[in-house]
Amino acid sequence: MLNVAKLKKGIVIDHINAGKGFDIYKELHLNDIDDAVVLMKGLPSKKLGKKDMIKIETDVELDMDVLGLIDPDVTINYVADGELISKVKLTLPKKVTGILECKNPRCISQYEHTGPITFYLVDPKTKTYRCEYCDSYTTFRSR
Ligand SMILES: [Zn+2]
Repeated sequence: MLNVAKLKKGIVIDHINAGKGFDIYKELHLNDIDDAVVLMKGLPSKKLGKKDMIKIETDVELDMDVLGLIDPDVTINYVADGELISKVKLTLPKKVTGILECKNPRCISQYEHTGPITFYLVDPKTKTYRCEYCDSYTTFRSR
């Protein structure tokens, strides 16, 4: 059971695969939040063996696409007045816009200003996506 007793308001990102917590922290720029953000790593988990967890003591808009890309197995718990008000189970996004870059040198996005590119999921196992313009494949990796 998730202990939210100490969290009055905010978000708990739970069931993060061990080691991914810091990637999420970086990629979602949680360092920029003024309120308390706690990254816990290597917690014991029945489901995962070990897991990471992040508590954010404020309401923020999380980028679910980025989060889903880094770790599609996480659960997001929203807490208000010390109680769990909703729970969201993430999945790998079917399409993402403005997150991935096309690496094909002949893609129109390389020499024309196309704006944010949309990529469509091709292979969930390898997190491979297809460029909307040139159909070439890009695989997501945390930086
Ligand atoms: Zn392309």
